Formats: sequence, structure tokens, C-alpha cells
Amino acid sequence: MPALTLENIEKRFGKVVAVRDVNIHLPDGRFVCFLGPSGCGKTTLLRLVAGLENPTRGRILLDGADITHTPAHRRNFGMVFQSLALFPHLSVAENITYSLKVRKVDRRERLRRAGELLELVQLPGLMDRHVGQLSGGQRQRVAIARALAIEPRLFLLDEPLSALDAKLREDMQLELRMLQQRLQITTILVTHDQREAMTMSDLVVVMGPDNRVHQMGTPLEIYRRPADTFVADFIGTSNLLEGVCSEAGEVTVAATRLAVTEVPGGISPGDAVTVSVRPESIHVLPGREPGPNRFCGRVSFIRDVGSSVEIFLDCGDFQIISMSTPKGRPQVAQGDEATAELPADACVVLKR
Ligand code: ATP
Repeated sequence: MPALTLENIEKRFGKVVAVRDVNIHLPDGRFVCFLGPSGCGKTTLLRLVAGLENPTRGRILLDGADITHTPAHRRNFGMVFQSLALFPHLSVAENITYSLKVRKVDRRERLRRAGELLELVQLPGLMDRHVGQLSGGQRQRVAIARALAIEPRLFLLDEPLSALDAKLREDMQLELRMLQQRLQITTILVTHDQREAMTMSDLVVVMGPDNRVHQMGTPLEIYRRPADTFVADFIGTSNLLEGVCSEAGEVTVAATRLAVTEVPGGISPGDAVTVSVRPESIHVLPGREPGPNRFCGRVSFIRDVGSSVEIFLDCGDFQIISMSTPKGRPQVAQGDEATAELPADACVVLKR
């Protein structure tokens, strides 16, 4: 049974539809990211799960029980927001155990839990510090410990790392992921950072500017088999080539016949399609070597960042970007003629 089910969820604020027709099942014990561009409704969706907003339509089920109208404080969920919302006049221990005090847990037990949680988030010995005397990363850890103090059924995080600098942010991503794996707590993280979502989650829920869920899957599924052009473009870098489906298993792009391993259902010969190909799947050969699944052009730019080499091939009406390791670097220079070969199994055909 899924831990959390969102069924036909819609949320309107007056005329604004913040979340449209969401149907997802989240399995127990996983790390899930709600990912999408600004305004796509991911925070609203998290707030609906938390009980901080009521859906306009639809149901929310937790372990099979309908919690759509259960107030937030009775859901037993731990939450961390971007603002952290720590109490500045209280010590670290008082912040962490605040919710336990509200629940009338006695002082000794509260201190014991605070010690345990500070160990968990790697801040031992900071119990009596005031929150104002902590660094950004330490405050982050206190907020996480505070959310975990009630042993929540779900752990909900809304862009908690976005205020941190890049290095600390990466460290905290890893720490948070390891903590979640240790506790096996079902976690939802809202982020607009696709790298963060792809590196941290078991499952990614990709939302689009139309405030709908476009795809839900493992990071690898979403990367390799994007469901539509929005996902292909939003996640990583994709070559998006416009063509026409010519017959089963083939697409024509700018007079080049492109064999593809799969044409999804619902696409017929004559339909306009977009073919998505990841740069690292493309092979670049020196010179003009026309043929099926090949595009000839001129190298317009080479970006060598040490760990990878990107080659930009100007093919007239469109551009193809390829990426290779320094070892597999094609023998071409800027201004040279070259050919890009797109393997059939790397071509993902999407409806246009
Ligand atoms: P961001 O990454 O910028 O935080 P988001 O994907 O989390 O964006 P939401 O904050 O969920 O998006 O907002 C979705 C849409 O709903 C936006 O158009 C937003 O302006 C609108 N919205 C959100 N909350 C309210 C509210 N309380 N009243 C009116 N409109 C709202």
C-alpha cells in the first residue's frame, strides 16, 4: 500500500489554479522530490500534504486513511521551510524540543531526545547555544532536528537548502539523504533545482508551468525516458529535433531518416514529433559522413571543462550538442566539418 496518495487534487486561489489534477502514489520510506520551475505549484502541493491548505477538489490518503480534512497539527508531520522559522530567543535544545514541550513530554526526556537528535544531525555539544550564535549550516541542522523530534510519519521540506552557498549546500544534500536512509522516513523535498532533485531522490515528481504533474519516476527514468518535451528540456541538456514520424520505427528530421527503437503509442505516420537525444549519447566523427541517423555540419564551438568536452555542431536550421569524456574526445577543431551520429536507442520520440 502506498504511504501517501494524492487523488484528483486541485487547488485554486480565486481564479489562479495553483495545482491541477494531481494523481500520485508515494511509496513508504522513499525520498521524493517535487521538482519544477517557479510558480508550478510545488509549494502549494506540499502545503496541501501538510494540511496547511485545503484542496479545492480531491482526496489525500495516508496509509489508506482519508486525511483530506485532518488539521495540520494532528497529522504528525515534521516540516522544514526555507525560512527555517527557528525561535531566535531560545537555545538549540529548547528549539529542538519545543514541540515535545507542547505535547507535555517531561524535561528529562526532552533533554535526552535533544541530545540524541543533535548527535543525529552531527551537532553534539551545542545544546545550550543560542540559535543566533550558529552558522547557516548549523541552523539548518537544528531545523531538521526540530522537525524530527516528534518522530514524524512524513518529513516535509520546502527548499530548506536554497539559502546556503553551493559547497555547503552539496554537503547538506548528502547529509540529509544519508539521514533519511538511516531513518527510512518517507520524505518529500520541494526544489526548483534539478540537480538537487536528481542526486537526492528515489523518485522525482516533475511539475510544469501548467501546474500539472508531467512525470513521476526514478531520476534515471526521467533522464533517459522523459515523458514529454517539457521534461526533456527541464532536466539536464537535451537535443530537441523537430521531425515527422514517417513509418513505424522511423522519423524524418530535415531530410535525414532517423531509425528509432521505439515510437510511443498514439503517434501515427505523418504526425509531427520531437526527438530528444542526450548529448552524451551522440558520437561525433570528423568530416562529412552522411547516412541514416547522421547529421553533417560545422563545429561552431568546443567547450572543454576538464571533466567533459562539449561540441556544438551547426547543422543549418538547428544545432546539435554532443558531450564526451576527455579520453573519448572527437578529433575535430572549431570550424571543421563534422558528422553527428545519433544511435537509434538514444532517440526518444515525443508527441509535439
Ligand atoms: P516557487 O518555486 O516560486 O516557490 P512554486 O512552484 O512553489 O513556486 P506555488 O508557490 O505553489 O509555486 O504557487 C503556485 C501558483 O499559485 C502561483 O501562481 C502562485 O502565485 C499561486 N499562489 C500560491 N499561493 C497563493 C495564495 N495564497 N494566494 C493566491 N495565489 C497563490
